[in-house]
Amino acid sequence: PADVEALGRSSWTLLHSISATYPVAPTAQEQSDVKSFLGLFGKLYPCWVCAEDFQEYMEREKIKASSRDEFGRWLCGAHNEVNRKLGKKEFDCNLWEERWRTGWKD
Ligand code: FAD
Repeated sequence: PADVEALGRSSWTLLHSISATYPVAPTAQEQSDVKSFLGLFGKLYPCWVCAEDFQEYMEREKIKASSRDEFGRWLCGAHNEVNRKLGKKEFDCNLWEERWRTGWKD
């Protein structure tokens, strides 16, 4: 449905933008904050089937956030999991920072 798609696009924009501004060398507190945020995000995400699958993904693939690049790639992997589920093309995670930080037009 259109709202699940619009919600998804906006949400990925928010999440990837958070990874783009995440510190290159995060403190223990910053790492813990981003994990707490995603844990709550996964609980509150207002598409219940999406939220359930996302929480299961985070159980299987623990969040990696010891650097900006590591977190950006983890999030790219999480997004690719949804892409696969929906039959969309997988995104090349080597390009995550170019897409979301240094920028190109989509
Ligand atoms: P989107 O997938 O929204 O992507 C937006 C842009 O991100 C793309 O144009 C591309 O430039 C870039 N991009 C694509 N893949 C990646 C990647 N791997 N890494 C970095 N950048 C990338 N929808 C459902 O129907 N069922 C679900 O179960 C579901 N679960 C979701 C779970 C979460 C946590 C989120 C945030 C969204 C979920 N969605 C789900 C929505 C779905 O992922 C899409 O957002 C929606 O289908 C719109 O897709 P889109 O093709 O416009 O691009």
